[in-house]
This record gives sequence, C-alpha cells and structure tokens, in this order.
Amino acid sequence: MSKLLVVGSVAIDSIETPHGKAPNVQGGSAVYFSYAASFFNPVRLVGVVGQDFPKAFEDVLAARKIDLRGLERADGKTFRWSGRYEGAMNSAETLSVELNVFGNFEPKIPQAFRDSQFVFLANGGPDTQRHVLEQMRKPRFTLADTMNLWISETRPQLLKLLKLVDGIVLNDGEARMLTGESNLIKAGRAVRQLGPNTVIIKKGEHGSLLVDKDGLFGLPAYPAERVVDPTGAGDSFAGGLMGYLARQGKVTDANLRRAIAYGTVTASFTIEDFSLNRLRQIKLADIQRRFREFRSFVRL
Ligand code: AMP
Repeated sequence: MSKLLVVGSVAIDSIETPHGKAPNVQGGSAVYFSYAASFFNPVRLVGVVGQDFPKAFEDVLAARKIDLRGLERADGKTFRWSGRYEGAMNSAETLSVELNVFGNFEPKIPQAFRDSQFVFLANGGPDTQRHVLEQMRKPRFTLADTMNLWISETRPQLLKLLKLVDGIVLNDGEARMLTGESNLIKAGRAVRQLGPNTVIIKKGEHGSLLVDKDGLFGLPAYPAERVVDPTGAGDSFAGGLMGYLARQGKVTDANLRRAIAYGTVTASFTIEDFSLNRLRQIKLADIQRRFREFRSFVRL
C-alpha cells in the first residue's frame, strides 16, 4: 500500500442517456477516481463543495478508505454539471456547467497529505494542477488528466505542466489536438516529447494505448454489453489504474500494463448504471473476477 492523493471536482450531476434520467446525483472527477481507486488502496481526496452538498454523498465516500480531511466546504453552491449521451454514447453533450465554488478553487493540500507518493491531478486548469504539484514533497508518480478546453484555451500553461508530470492520460481526440498529428502512434510519441514519460491514450469503446520508454502497449476495452451511463468512465479508469499502482508501490512496465487492465475493468462496472450505483454494489473480488475474464478475452 502507498499514499495516494487525488485533487479534482466533487459534483452534483444531472444525466440523460437513452436508458433514462438521473437528476442531482453524485459525481465529479475526484469522486469517481477515489471510489474506483479505493478498491485497491486508501485514497486522500482534496476538493471543494458548497453548503448544499448532501451529507449522504459525503457518507458514501467516508464509508470507504477515502480520507476526506482535504474536502473543503466553502460558502456558496457545489459544482454542477449536466450532460446528455445519445446513440453509441461515445461522448457527452454538456447541457450546462455551474462552476460555483469550484470556480474559485485553489487547492490547499493539507500538511498530512503532502507526503503522498502517488498523485492524480484530475481534470482541471493546468495552473491549478501545477499549484498542487508545487505543494507536494517528493511524489514517486504523478499523473494528470486534461481535456480539449485546456488544450485550446490554456495551451502555454498546459505545456508548462507537461514538463513536470510523470504521466498524462487523455483521449484520442485530445492527443491529436495537442500535437497536430492525426496518426495516434505519432501523436503519442509527440506528447512524450512535450515532457511526460508515460502517455496513456483512451479510445473509448476501442480501448487504450500506452506510449512509454519501453515502446507501445495496447488493450481493447472490456466487451461491455450493458452501457447505461458512461459518465465517470475516464476517472474510474484512472482510479483503477492508480489504485493498482499505489497498491504495488512501484511503477514498472509490467505493473503499468496490469494497471491499465485494472483501470479498464473498473471502468466497465461504472458504466453499467448511473452515478456510483454500480461501483457501490461490487467488491474487489468482482473486479478480480472480471480481470481474469478480460485476460482470457485478449489471450492469443
Ligand atoms: P468522465 O470520467 O470524463 O466521464 O468525468 C465525469 C465527471 O466529470 C462528471 O461527474 C462531472 O461532474 C465532471 N466534470 C464535468 N465537467 C468538468 C469540468 N470542466 N471540470 C471538472 N470536472 C468536470
């Protein structure tokens, strides 16, 4: 076990998919990440909520090995995101975003969290992500998430961040947008040239690609037949991945490959129901069972 930190959004989401509507449910990048990672390793969460944040949502996290001493309750309202998925549900259409207290969020890492060895910078502005890194003592592995908004709006700041992190996780469209390379292999290599040693590209239902110093590694997605709500798939993927790495304590090429497989399998549960509903029903043994099934799915 290691000390694992996540900094990111804690949200109230309203979701619409072809399977139904889920208004005012628990969401946020740091929430999906920490719940997913907590199957493998204890997690320290840093985020902000408003006065309206339901106690019940906090209880769901507190019941896990998730340390909430870094969850600030500020004056104002909680971050709210509302999104809709249609057809193949490959990407969300954002219907509304209310940043509220998250808009002024300047994460202050509690002293007790500054010795974290594994750090996940969930989706957020690159300057804010860098501010988190500056507060850390000597992390062993730092991984950042990003999105198209930051690539287009705050590119110089993102380039500065990329020089400081060990790894970056982004989707295929974002990798192409960041590098101008349409070929994904070239794009992955070009992202490495910008700084991070480990580049993980998510391809939605087509799986993921790792580009690191050892070359290339790819996995398909778990063959999911029942996709109810894809929200949180990316953060659960990162949570399973970082949780597994933190549990192992070191980042080797073999660990990273297995971590990607665990991330894939953990995310495959998240998408089977709205919000954290499916993750709340399972245990590590269920993830391990599906991991074995996934291994046989890709065995040659
Ligand atoms: P994903 O894993 O990419 O599906 O992330 C889903 C979560 O991201 C949702 O629960 C949202 O609350 C949260 N979210 C959406 N937009 C943003 C944003 N701009 N910054 C931080 N979190 C966001």
